[in-house]
Amino acid sequence: MYEFSYHKASSLEDARSTLATAEDGKLLAGGMTLLPTMKQRLAAPTVLVDLTGIDMAGIEGKGDNIVVGAMTTHAAVASSSLVQQTIPALAALAEGIGDPQVRNRGTIGGSVANADPAADYPAALVGLGATVVTSKRSLSAEEFFTGMFETALAEDEIITAVSFPVPEAAAYQKFPNPASRYAIVGVFVAKTANGIRVAVTGAGGSVFRNAEMEQALASNFSPDAVKNIAVDSSGLNEDIHASAEYRAHLVGVMASRAVAAM
Ligand SMILES: Cc1cc2nc3c(=O)[nH]c(=O)nc-3n(C[C@H](O)[C@H](O)[C@H](O)COP(=O)(O)OP(=O)(O)OC[C@H]3O[C@@H](n4cnc5c(N)ncnc54)[C@H](O)[C@@H]3O)c2cc1C
Repeated sequence: MYEFSYHKASSLEDARSTLATAEDGKLLAGGMTLLPTMKQRLAAPTVLVDLTGIDMAGIEGKGDNIVVGAMTTHAAVASSSLVQQTIPALAALAEGIGDPQVRNRGTIGGSVANADPAADYPAALVGLGATVVTSKRSLSAEEFFTGMFETALAEDEIITAVSFPVPEAAAYQKFPNPASRYAIVGVFVAKTANGIRVAVTGAGGSVFRNAEMEQALASNFSPDAVKNIAVDSSGLNEDIHASAEYRAHLVGVMASRAVAAM
């Protein structure tokens, strides 16, 4: 780890202004991704701006939405009776992230900001048509995720909350990496006020929707409607865990399992 200075922010404005003036500042939430990256010297921020002193954790219902504060841990989302009652698929997704240590430290804001192509939350955000609320503005999930580890966030912009519209029904199924539990492929299917949405994580450089599956489910909402839809493997992720062709196959399998679970 390289040397850095540490600042525990006392307010959102304090965090934002420290970040804006730092030469190479980074926000610290649960530290589950950032600290290992720094230990491996893959990241070398000069200033760490700790968000744990700011009141940004908590879950509340606002109209037809469930609003999750950015510093809310995965464990808190998984065990929230409000989330379990309104969007059980979101509670189950959070329960399936990593291990107890990761779930007790890792936050939704950190996960979403990191935009790991194999992370689970991006599938829920895009699948439910969620809104990312920041220190500057509100963005739709599809505007927010712009590529592999890339988001629309500006250098000094801080995620404050994620707002999820409550769906009619939803389910998430993933084929997890057996060691980390990250998604080799994960598919989130939701029946929303704006139609059926199918969001895929793990397979590509960033989370994406599958329009063909959405159309097939709109006319026949059954596991068989999506199981055999061929997914083009070109451009999909390929690594020691799974080939692009295998990931393409898994998209259909996970989508049909998600529909069966609804
Ligand atoms: C062993 C292991 C297994 C894991 N398994 C899974 C898994 O199965 N599924 C999964 O989805 N994830 C998994 N993760 C990742 C985990 O969910 C992390 O918690 C998450 O990626 C980062 O959240 P964090 O709060 O720890 O963020 P940090 O590590 O503190 O920060 C991550 C990045 O986000 C930025 N950031 C943090 N908060 C904000 C904010 N409010 N606004 C703007 N930027 C912010 C930071 O500057 C940093 O760049 C795993 C991690 C580990 C170590």
